[in-house]
Amino acid sequence: MSNALIESQEHRDLRAAVAALGARYGREYTTAVVRDGKQPDELWAEAGKLGYLGVNLPVEFGGGGAGIAELALVLEELGAAGCPLLMMVVSPAICGTVISRFGTPAQKERWLPGLASGTLRMAFGITEPDAGSNSHRITTTGRREGDEWVLSGRKVFVSGVDIADATLVVGRAEDARTGALKPCLFIVERHASGFRWNRIPMELAAPEKQFELVMDDVRLPPDALVGSEDAGLLQLFAGLNPERIMTAAFALGMGRYALGRAVDYARTRQVWREPIGAHQALAHPLAQSHIEIELARLMTAKAAALYDAGDDAGAGEAANMAKYAAAEAAVRAVDRAVHTLGGNGLTTEYGLASLVTAARVARIAPVSREMILNYVSHRTLGLPKSY
Ligand SMILES: Cc1cc2nc3c(=O)[nH]c(=O)nc-3n(C[C@H](O)[C@H](O)[C@H](O)COP(=O)(O)OP(=O)(O)OC[C@H]3O[C@@H](n4cnc5c(N)ncnc54)[C@H](O)[C@@H]3O)c2cc1C
Repeated sequence: MSNALIESQEHRDLRAAVAALGARYGREYTTAVVRDGKQPDELWAEAGKLGYLGVNLPVEFGGGGAGIAELALVLEELGAAGCPLLMMVVSPAICGTVISRFGTPAQKERWLPGLASGTLRMAFGITEPDAGSNSHRITTTGRREGDEWVLSGRKVFVSGVDIADATLVVGRAEDARTGALKPCLFIVERHASGFRWNRIPMELAAPEKQFELVMDDVRLPPDALVGSEDAGLLQLFAGLNPERIMTAAFALGMGRYALGRAVDYARTRQVWREPIGAHQALAHPLAQSHIEIELARLMTAKAAALYDAGDDAGAGEAANMAKYAAAEAAVRAVDRAVHTLGGNGLTTEYGLASLVTAARVARIAPVSREMILNYVSHRTLGLPKSY
């Protein structure tokens, strides 16, 4: 997407700068970090220092004052270099957005400068074992006891809890007057008593791990509640669109990375008279993937532009479609890349096979392919609901 009409000079400069950082780390770095059971701390710290992790956060709190468009571009370029930072989807994009839009002045002071510089990290927990895709069914509940909140419930698949300073937990709070439950967001610091996490073994070669959270009467200070008790749903939705746009960027980076490796290989690998890339059976699927990735990039840019312009409703539809298109493009690009390399597609040396599972994450999370198709069929096309 190098057309100046589609992308500003500033965006292209940012892409080039992030790509240069990514090139210094690359896939080898991520592979080594995973092999050694470490975290991509050096890359995270350097990206933070350069202002990339907080590019979307307000200037007064140390951020770059730009938007999700810029943050997505950072993640996409790191992914295209082979070293994506998954926690960017959660820490600056969801948690940073929610706190900067709805947090109290004290919450902003406490969290935003660290989230912007990368010195603080926050995880985000919404998924529950018995609710899954149906987040209306979540049962994690906060009740007031005097000044404090007492939070109980369980979450699953929450990424990065082990390395996060706090987790933004989606729960429900009891309305003091009516007893009804309304959605609320709580900041749970990692050492809060009663807050435990257990790693969920996953077949993923990624540094960021997934966890079950167990919250047994976790006592939280009054200011653990983000923003207002009565605006919970609005606050939650403010974080979910950035999450989808960032997941699209994550998938796009991975798809570009895989496609790049496949094209390099197809150009040079020769077993007959011509390199294998001359065979249309290989070349056309790679061309299709390039087209699919470019289309998904356009939709992702549209979703980010709508979100940054304050059109939450328009951004909702576009962010869903962008996440869908980018995930599908990434799954296909990885599959085609593995096939292009033949046996080498499955070797550790070429490192593409582990992307097969990694790409599937974007199809499942944070909202599955089917739930997006449901959204588009009901909301956009006006078709009846089956569930
Ligand atoms: C690597 C990874 C990282 C994650 N990180 C986080 C995180 O940081 N924080 C967090 O809160 N969560 C996280 N998740 C959880 C993720 O958001 C959920 O897995 C996802 O929302 C799907 O929920 P589920 O797994 O319970 O699937 P389910 O809801 O049980 O769905 C199972 C299948 O049924 C389909 N299905 C369900 N309902 C319908 C319907 N009405 N119509 C058609 N099909 C339907 C789904 O599409 C899916 O294919 C992560 C997941 C993964 C894999």
